[in-house]
Amino acid sequence: MASDTNAVVGAMLRDLAAAQSERQSAFGYKRASNAVLELEQPIETYLESDGTLRKIPNVGPKSERVVLEALRTGGSTFVDDTVRASEHAADIEKQRTLRANFMSRARVLEVLEAPAPGAPSVSDYRGDLQMHSTWSDGSQTLEEIIESGIARGYEFCGLTDHSQGLRIARGLSMAELAKQHEAIDRLNSRYHGRFRLIKGIEANIGPDGSIDLAPEELARLELVVAAPHSGLRSLDDQTPRMLAAVMARGVHVLGHPRGRLYSTRAGIEANWPEVFAAAAVSNVAIEIDGDPWRQDVDYELARAALEAGCLFALDSDAHSPPELRNAEIAIAHARLAGVPQDRVINCWPTDRLLAWLADRG
Ligand SMILES: [Zn+2]
Repeated sequence: MASDTNAVVGAMLRDLAAAQSERQSAFGYKRASNAVLELEQPIETYLESDGTLRKIPNVGPKSERVVLEALRTGGSTFVDDTVRASEHAADIEKQRTLRANFMSRARVLEVLEAPAPGAPSVSDYRGDLQMHSTWSDGSQTLEEIIESGIARGYEFCGLTDHSQGLRIARGLSMAELAKQHEAIDRLNSRYHGRFRLIKGIEANIGPDGSIDLAPEELARLELVVAAPHSGLRSLDDQTPRMLAAVMARGVHVLGHPRGRLYSTRAGIEANWPEVFAAAAVSNVAIEIDGDPWRQDVDYELARAALEAGCLFALDSDAHSPPELRNAEIAIAHARLAGVPQDRVINCWPTDRLLAWLADRG
């Protein structure tokens, strides 16, 4: 498969943004970078026969020049010179190492269309298992989640607002959780036979790997996604923390396992094959988080989880209805990793999924 030109060009524009001293021009280059990363077609197809570039929304004349230079030469001396002359050069060098295996939208679509026998596809995908609503830091109501899910052909969705431990994300208290569950029960009876909303939570993994849920909370929840939100910039080995998390009682899914962010941080350092082996034994699925800025785990690390015998959860981590399509990014990573469809819990029939979720000894 050809290289991901949109990711390469998007990264160059990101470098330029980081090299600016003026906020306004940094903003312009960053917006152009995002526009290129989100294009549905390879940027080569925007090149006109007269050597100009077809207009791309949010890509201004300066960014356009960089794109043309990159398409002509494979690089950009303008970007390299600007970065070298910038006071942020060292920081930009570091940022460049924090973009490994991030796919552009065009690349994701290419991977979804390429033949991959036995692999999960968008049409086999029955439901999303990480998303956030207005009950915590999301902007979508429960009804919007159900209706957008049905529109995408889903049969279920796992609602995973943040737990109490994560106050910055307006985590839910026990009382709020009880109210949310009443609302879910009402909706589930209204949509009976058409759609099933699963009572879930995104629990927070503490520094010692413990989960911030009391036994009575665990008893009320159908789905527990445990994810790290601290220590994500630490260079120390955190294998014991992640081992404890996958072995903690009640956990179904290890969410965005590293906590990495595009151009920003590498996330948790750990002996992942060891963590995945423990997850396989505890029957904990490894998440491929499809948030475009997370893509965590990516296809390379997913291969190690596959070898360890893990199950997978391919999730959008959506906070609003348009973000539901982020699940496609997760599906693309699973396809590149060679994950068979049967290992993907989102592709299971609802009854099989619910039985697996209920089976926590
Ligand atoms: Zn999270």
